Amino acid sequence: MAIATEQTIHARYDREFGGSKKMFERARKSITGGITHDGRNIKPFPPYIAQADGAYKWDVNGHKLIDYAIGHGSLILGHNDPEITAAMQEQAARGTHFSAGHEGEILWAEKVIELVPSADDVRFTASGTEATLLAMRVARGYTEKSTILKFEGHFHGWQDYALKGEKPPFESTTVPGIPNETLGTVSVIPSNDPAMLEERLVQGDVAAVILEPSGASWSTIQLKDDFLKQVRDITAKHGVLLIFDEVITGFRWAPGGAQQRFGVTPDLTTLAKIIAGGMPGGAVAGRRDVMQMIAFRDDAGWNGARRVQQAGTFNANPVAAAAGYTALSKCADPSVQSYCDDLAKKIRVGLNQVITSLGVPAFAWGESSVFHVALGKPASNLVADDLHTPEGVSVEFLKGSGGDKLGMAFEIGMLIEGVHVFHSGGLLSTRHTDADVETTVAAAETVLAALTAEGAFK
Ligand code: PMP
Repeated sequence: MAIATEQTIHARYDREFGGSKKMFERARKSITGGITHDGRNIKPFPPYIAQADGAYKWDVNGHKLIDYAIGHGSLILGHNDPEITAAMQEQAARGTHFSAGHEGEILWAEKVIELVPSADDVRFTASGTEATLLAMRVARGYTEKSTILKFEGHFHGWQDYALKGEKPPFESTTVPGIPNETLGTVSVIPSNDPAMLEERLVQGDVAAVILEPSGASWSTIQLKDDFLKQVRDITAKHGVLLIFDEVITGFRWAPGGAQQRFGVTPDLTTLAKIIAGGMPGGAVAGRRDVMQMIAFRDDAGWNGARRVQQAGTFNANPVAAAAGYTALSKCADPSVQSYCDDLAKKIRVGLNQVITSLGVPAFAWGESSVFHVALGKPASNLVADDLHTPEGVSVEFLKGSGGDKLGMAFEIGMLIEGVHVFHSGGLLSTRHTDADVETTVAAAETVLAALTAEGAFK
């Protein structure tokens, strides 16, 4: 059932998703660039969604889409989990903001501590970006050092200390809008090179090392098997704090996140997405002595000079707390993660089978409950297994793979076939089924065949 060649993917998208096209044209008049998140940039226009349920959502033209963006990864229990919805409704009826402490935030924090190995204490934020900002400030305050060391391609939100070295060219020393003085306090090195890490830490100015324990962009650029343990050993040896950014991996890689799955405990952990059950929210969790930097303490000086400030109108918002507590209570059952892991593996294996049988230059990979597809490289004789990227593929290529021309054409083709992939990949939920996976692999076969027919791989 290949798409007839005269009906190119873009022409069909333009015709069949006309409602989204209209909305995008309207949005561009009031919303800068028409989109509200850089990650939702799809050319020629993004889909507009009218409603969602379980593993699905429906666009404004009524197409049913299997959703692998699934709340940017936050909805591991799918859209509209009945228990989360009930908890939110019950809380909303009792008030949405108390400008004060409430039991919901304590229950929520207790649940995080129960699940996440590194969490002695928790402090809530309103997003993952705020969580990494706070973790870096706490680390700098605690160590009285200023440099944050990060790895090429790792994404830690959009705050000023997080963006250097996130996109290729990684060695670029400027980021528009961010002062060079600020960028000068961030050091970026490639991952998987313990000797280079140690050489950098010896210089003595580094407060903390931050990383995505999955490797950059939820396992797009993977970490070598023992790298996490080596980073833990080297940071401990040099008195440098280690921050795991578990905004994606938290409660997904395992009930206790990647740190539980890999048995490596950081000093601080940043969390968002799943932690708030589909509502805005995030947190920093970690070692009590380090987290105490935020507390009002007698030893912080009469004017609090030795403490780190944190505020935020929507921190631990009661509705987010109710959603988050309910989500985490459900995610404590490891069958949540193993179910999603199994489905993601079936997708990765299925995609690689389709790629091999069609002979297209592409490969699928990923770990835990995520999958990625890269199109255009390597030559079709280089076949990956479903867990690892093939040897010899550059980190620059991997990082750019979802957002390039081919990646976007694939994304649009998949939308036509009823599947919403996220940057040529996706994240699974407990509401996805084997049947969804089969539909997805068949859709990819159709789209890759159509792209081949259009000469996209030439
Ligand atoms: N860290 C990581 C690893 C992320 O994936 C993200 C968001 N995708 C963030 C931080 C930023 O989180 P937020 O979008 O909630 O600000």
